[in-house]
Amino acid sequence: MSRNRKQDNPIQGHPLTNQRRLLLELLRDAEGHVDAKELYRRASARDESISLATVYRTLNLFRELGLVDEMKLGKIRCYYEIRQSPGHQHLVCQGCGKIIEFQNPHLQKLIEAIRQEYGFKVTRAELYLEGYCPGCEEDEKTR
Ligand SMILES: [Zn+2]
Ligand SMILES: [Zn+2]
Repeated sequence: MSRNRKQDNPIQGHPLTNQRRLLLELLRDAEGHVDAKELYRRASARDESISLATVYRTLNLFRELGLVDEMKLGKIRCYYEIRQSPGHQHLVCQGCGKIIEFQNPHLQKLIEAIRQEYGFKVTRAELYLEGYCPGCEEDEKTR
């Protein structure tokens, strides 16, 4: 096999080890947000030799390379997801911790307006709204 074969390596300049490949795959399959511990749980089910430290290190690398977004949703937990464009926004319930994703055409319009007015190209916009989901809002009322 030719060693010069151009590989489809999304993590440029870094060897795509099996564990990195596995983590990337799991993130792509996650459909939403996972925290490092959950990712570790899923990864170790497939590869017993993987360590939590490796998961953290790899997530950091992916983040630096712009492959994943790290979000602090809620107070302490950090979530990771594959970076998408256009991005979606997050509603975070303070009651049950549920994360609801939404996309908002108004935000896109705002970005376009900014481009027109300021000539500024927005490459990333994050909207993170805290509050209570319908279920938790009910609970709040009856408390
Ligand atoms: Zn999301
Ligand atoms: Zn809730």
